[in-house]
Amino acid sequence: MLNVVLRWLPRSAAATMKYLDEYRDPGAASRYVDAIAALVRQKWTLMEVCGGQTHAIVRYGLHELLPSQVEIVHGPGCPVCVTPAERISRALDLARRPNVILCSFGDMLRVPAGDADLLRVRAEGGDVRVVYSPLDALQIATQHPDRDVVFFAVGFETTAPAIAMTVQQAARLALPNFSVLVSHVRVPQALDALLSDPDNRVQGFLAAGHVNTIMGMAEYEPIARAYRVPIVATGFEPLDILQGVYMCLRQLEEGRAEVENQYTRAVRPAGNEAAITALQDVFEVVDRVWRGMGTIAASGLGLAAKYARFDADRRFDWTDVQVEEDSARCIAGSIMRGHSRPSDCAEFGAGCTPDHPLGAPMVSSEGACAAYFRYGVA
Ligand code: SF4
Repeated sequence: MLNVVLRWLPRSAAATMKYLDEYRDPGAASRYVDAIAALVRQKWTLMEVCGGQTHAIVRYGLHELLPSQVEIVHGPGCPVCVTPAERISRALDLARRPNVILCSFGDMLRVPAGDADLLRVRAEGGDVRVVYSPLDALQIATQHPDRDVVFFAVGFETTAPAIAMTVQQAARLALPNFSVLVSHVRVPQALDALLSDPDNRVQGFLAAGHVNTIMGMAEYEPIARAYRVPIVATGFEPLDILQGVYMCLRQLEEGRAEVENQYTRAVRPAGNEAAITALQDVFEVVDRVWRGMGTIAASGLGLAAKYARFDADRRFDWTDVQVEEDSARCIAGSIMRGHSRPSDCAEFGAGCTPDHPLGAPMVSSEGACAAYFRYGVA
């Protein structure tokens, strides 16, 4: 399948690439671009799913190197961006409680829900702590047996296994004061939702390779078949992305719609069996609201009943959680559906900047708006 492209690479490089710089080689990238230009005969719209891929595309200007017939739009693959205001409102509510220590990854601190965010609650006296691993939160719980320690768990199938293993460890330790506010989401169901939208423009996906590293490839087969779209598990370096684009376009030009794997150095067809086992033990599939996209059936993970004692949703009384709507000026939902670009937003770079964000895509290190701002895309 890849021989056509790989022959453009230096023979030794194609055989032995293993260092990061080699996946950023301008000469090899140029040969991929030439191969793509020679392949394409009509207009196509592809979506990269992951925010990490978005940043690589924008940072290296890959979208500008492609032929004019090929449009790349940005998908819902920024975990912070899709976390709904309702979940953030609950985190804010917990952080305001005197006996709670709310632990979170740093990206979540500045995501607004209404006119509040966790950073502001911390400034007002809430005990909000940035951690680098859910195990850090577990350790804080052991150090503060008189406080309730809650970990705010967001993200895709990539981060969920670490949460699952942390919950299993909390169960082994019989920790009475640790719980998780879960907001995990599943990627295939989001692709299904995008494709079932009557206004959908996406004709092929560069799937997020790290999700496939965990979950394997099988979940995408029924989607590719049902909607006749190619789905290529793709990595995050420039040559990964160009190769993923080539593979996707080649399928489209040949009238195929299959699931393929560009990211073979990390993705095995069956995924990571140990991680999947942990996910199946700790979580159950639930419907989930995606910020800007609404409720998507079976698109989330919630704690299974056997771990209910670690579920913050069940553990705490919730009397007055406000579900704050996003600013009407923010078009994040339209961007994540591939209908608009950050530069189409009237607030981009004016009313909305990383210092004064109106929406999550400008806050998150994986957000499309932050990428356009950081790399100066007009
Ligand atoms: S630039 Fe700001 S307001 Fe506009 S879509 Fe992005 S995050 Fe929302």
